[in-house]
Amino acid sequence: MSLIVQKYGGSSVANAEKILRVAQRVIKRKKAGNKVVVVVSAMGDMTDDLIDLSKQINPDPQEREMDMLLATGEQVSIALLAMAIHKLGHEAVSFTGPQVGIITDAFHSKARIQNISPDRIKKALVQGKIVIVAGFQGQTPAGEITTLGRGGSDLTAVALAVALKAKHCEIYTDVDGIYTADPRVIPDAKKMDQVTYDEILELASLGAKVMHSRSIEVGKKFNMPIWVCNSHKDVKGTLITKENKAMEEVVVSGVALAEDEAKITLFRVQDRPGVAAKIFQTLADANVNVDMIIQNKTKTNSTDISFTVFKNELQKALKVVNSSAKKLGVGEVVSDQNIAKVSVVGIGMRSHSGIASKMFSVLAKNKINIDMISTSEIKISVVVAGDKGKLAAQVIHKAFGLGKGK
Ligand code: ADP
Ligand code: ASP
Ligand code: MG
Repeated sequence: MSLIVQKYGGSSVANAEKILRVAQRVIKRKKAGNKVVVVVSAMGDMTDDLIDLSKQINPDPQEREMDMLLATGEQVSIALLAMAIHKLGHEAVSFTGPQVGIITDAFHSKARIQNISPDRIKKALVQGKIVIVAGFQGQTPAGEITTLGRGGSDLTAVALAVALKAKHCEIYTDVDGIYTADPRVIPDAKKMDQVTYDEILELASLGAKVMHSRSIEVGKKFNMPIWVCNSHKDVKGTLITKENKAMEEVVVSGVALAEDEAKITLFRVQDRPGVAAKIFQTLADANVNVDMIIQNKTKTNSTDISFTVFKNELQKALKVVNSSAKKLGVGEVVSDQNIAKVSVVGIGMRSHSGIASKMFSVLAKNKINIDMISTSEIKISVVVAGDKGKLAAQVIHKAFGLGKGK
């Protein structure tokens, strides 16, 4: 009897009818002779709605209370899914993250899982029950409720699959699998049959919201096969797996677009050792994620430093930067929210050259100016004006022959 962990995203459990449909799918897997653990997200846009609601009450809520609020979304859907399974005549039991021993650190709103003790899940499985677990949430050793970052139910699912030594993890969502680009932005994008952990990790951290990036890190570390499939259709999804020879031959496998970042520029920063360290240390201390960084020496023995942060952390970042800028005698601090980051990813880039020049020339041909560039072994990212992001992603996707039409 194999153990399978399934995860259903918010759109898959958006209303009563959809929850009943998920219940049928889960029961089908159980009847086929599997032990089934199901992770669910909050219904539809409930997490966004709760965030909006909180802002009406307090625009700057404490992170602890925010986690307390957001964790309720998943508790609604687990109970409803258990009721749906009961209605269809099968045994199921729902648990919150803390109830199944998901212990995290204390970084509210982006906590990391430290440990899982799934004894209650194992017991319920032995009793023949379908086990339903709330995604996205955990508890600190001191008993505080935490959440794992937006899209974090994926992480709950993969981490549970590892902890329970599942055969594989199945992520059910509203598209057929992982595509060469977001099919909503680039309708010509093609579904991939398989993709490596490294590629989807890059794509996810570069803006492809189809999977939570830390869920892939965990999958990779423990070599847990992950299937991404459509929750409404019985079509073959995408397998996330370790790389094989055939996969290396694909030079560029996907394009990602991120429109949720903003740029901060510090003009006239003193050019001496330790200044950048101080600025970025204070950002790290405030738990602000910094993405791309560029530094340009000017003629006047000072430098300009630009970097990007998530838009929802911009105010926090500016507060920190402005205060250290004053102490360090920085000339001026400017921010820009009208930016987009477009990236190409592929493990074949390790052994092929000319990808950057092709990407830059197609942008030039379309009169799209490049503001920042960053590269790694398997990706190239550029920052362009916010209103040019979609066009940039489309022309790059086409230039690398990734679409169905080619
Ligand atoms: P869920 O609620 O099931 O977790 P998400 O909205 O988090 O679903 O993720 C699914 C969405 O991810 C899709 O609707 C799609 O628009 C988006 N997406 C972005 N990039 C990709 C990609 N490369 N392949 C597939 N989907 C993508
Ligand atoms: N409900 C949470 C969110 O909207 C977690 C998830 O969907 O995975 O981010
Ligand atoms: Mg998601």
